[in-house]
Amino acid sequence: MSASSPILLTPGPLTTAPATREAMLRDWGSWDGEFNRMTGRVCAALLAVVHGEGEYVCVPMQGSGTFAVEAALGTLVPRDACVLVPHNGAYCARLVRILERMGIAHVTLPLAEDEPALASAIEAAFLRDPRITHVAQVHLETSAGLLNPLDEIARVCARHGKRLIVDAMSSFGAVPIDLRGSGIDALVSASGKCLEGVPGMGFVIVRRALLEQCAGRAPSLALDLHDQWVYMEKTTQWRFTPPTHVVAALSCALDAFVAQGGQPARAARYARNRATLIESMTALGFVPFLPAAVQSDIIVTFHAPHDPAWRFAELYAAVREAGYILYPGKLTEVDTFRVGCIGAIDEEAMRGAVAAIGLAIERLGIRVA
Ligand SMILES: *Cc1c(COP(=O)(O)O)cnc(C)c1O
Repeated sequence: MSASSPILLTPGPLTTAPATREAMLRDWGSWDGEFNRMTGRVCAALLAVVHGEGEYVCVPMQGSGTFAVEAALGTLVPRDACVLVPHNGAYCARLVRILERMGIAHVTLPLAEDEPALASAIEAAFLRDPRITHVAQVHLETSAGLLNPLDEIARVCARHGKRLIVDAMSSFGAVPIDLRGSGIDALVSASGKCLEGVPGMGFVIVRRALLEQCAGRAPSLALDLHDQWVYMEKTTQWRFTPPTHVVAALSCALDAFVAQGGQPARAARYARNRATLIESMTALGFVPFLPAAVQSDIIVTFHAPHDPAWRFAELYAAVREAGYILYPGKLTEVDTFRVGCIGAIDEEAMRGAVAAIGLAIERLGIRVA
């Protein structure tokens, strides 16, 4: 580890493997057959992660994850629909803002930031408001690190005939998702989260029969998922300039993902990272914000110490100097900070980070407990 390349304990961009970075050392042309076959292999590998082969297609989209979320909502949701957004954090708020911008009717199911979206509460919302046609669900609310029970939510959506679009940005590849026989219509994620690629490419895995009905609906040209799909099917090429180096890095990261044992192995490594982190931070006196039952293995939110000497920016700078990048909190009411457990890192990195945090709070004279 060098001072110029710190370990990122953030939920994207994150620490990548050297091979993934090295995959970006050559240039690709967008007409190049080899590059376009690589895009095809990446999409096939992404479908395989969630068992979507056959019934679903994978459409890549240039940009960060939000671009793919906006493309999915703008393309897949009819303008006379009404979308239910179970709301327990900042990424749910982002879904609401996208729907507002597009003028799509929506209702929220307000929840606390440590309260999962239960299928029973979603079912009650369906019964209260028969206008609801769709659900836009954040699988893993990265703002607190909270995991929502997607399987139960998908079952209740299927039972009531509601379309389900899932922001699986920070869960895809790490939390098990099986599309076979599920009530999920579309899943959105991106290159630079649990797949451990670099940021710059989102993707939407969507039921083919649904996407086929969506020609000409998107209010945006660049974010028209149907147009992107049709063009790629016809030509094998990306519709506009592809993020070539990002695709090459993701291709390499997916090879490593499979070689390491796929989703179960990734989940196990992140679980060890999370356990090591919580155990050693608790030993320093820090208290996790979430109860263990809803705490994911992706990112952990800690309460800020009640000491007047506490400044997150100072802790950040001191820990940065030791080679680790922390993440600020994103909750509305409680003062917190976050430590990510994802990326090409293991328990040793977590222990190193917590040791650096321990030294920093001592040096800054912050009393934690
Ligand atoms: C990272 C993330 C996004 C996308 O954010 P970008 O800044 O556009 O990459 C969306 N939803 C969730 C839950 C995320 O964790």
